[in-house]
Amino acid sequence: MFRVDESDPASPTLFEIHKNQSGKGIPKFLPDRRREPNVKNLVETGRGYESFTPEKIKSRLVTEGYLKDECYICGIHERRMTDYKSPLLLNFKDGNKSNYLLDNLEMLCYNCYFLYVADPLTPNQVRHIEDNQTVKELPHTWDLDKEALDNMKALGILS
Ligand SMILES: [Zn+2]
Repeated sequence: MFRVDESDPASPTLFEIHKNQSGKGIPKFLPDRRREPNVKNLVETGRGYESFTPEKIKSRLVTEGYLKDECYICGIHERRMTDYKSPLLLNFKDGNKSNYLLDNLEMLCYNCYFLYVADPLTPNQVRHIEDNQTVKELPHTWDLDKEALDNMKALGILS
């Protein structure tokens, strides 16, 4: 499966874009794969983040090994099986979200972010989660290949 952005396992596959003619859920622009944030320069000088999305930078910081893909407080490193996303937030220790110097960065899970930094959800978002309404399923924007299906069957998650 070829992805729009090979470095980002959460980006849509070319197959998904092809079959999704209305473009629902697909960003309006395709990332220019020749332009990658220079994360080495970024973490050493703190400069050069402006032309990239925080998601892109976070992903590159992990794939290039500058940050571990786990919570720096409790160590959780599990990923959601369906789309391989992890419940981790990039935290700027000094509170300055423009300060990408490596010493200022850490990954925190939602729990630890809540306990030690701030509420990751607004009161409105919490209300929506706890409002007794039937939970809508996550939009089906991913496909499982045969290996993933077999793994989930072996784990008893699917029958
Ligand atoms: Zn944690």
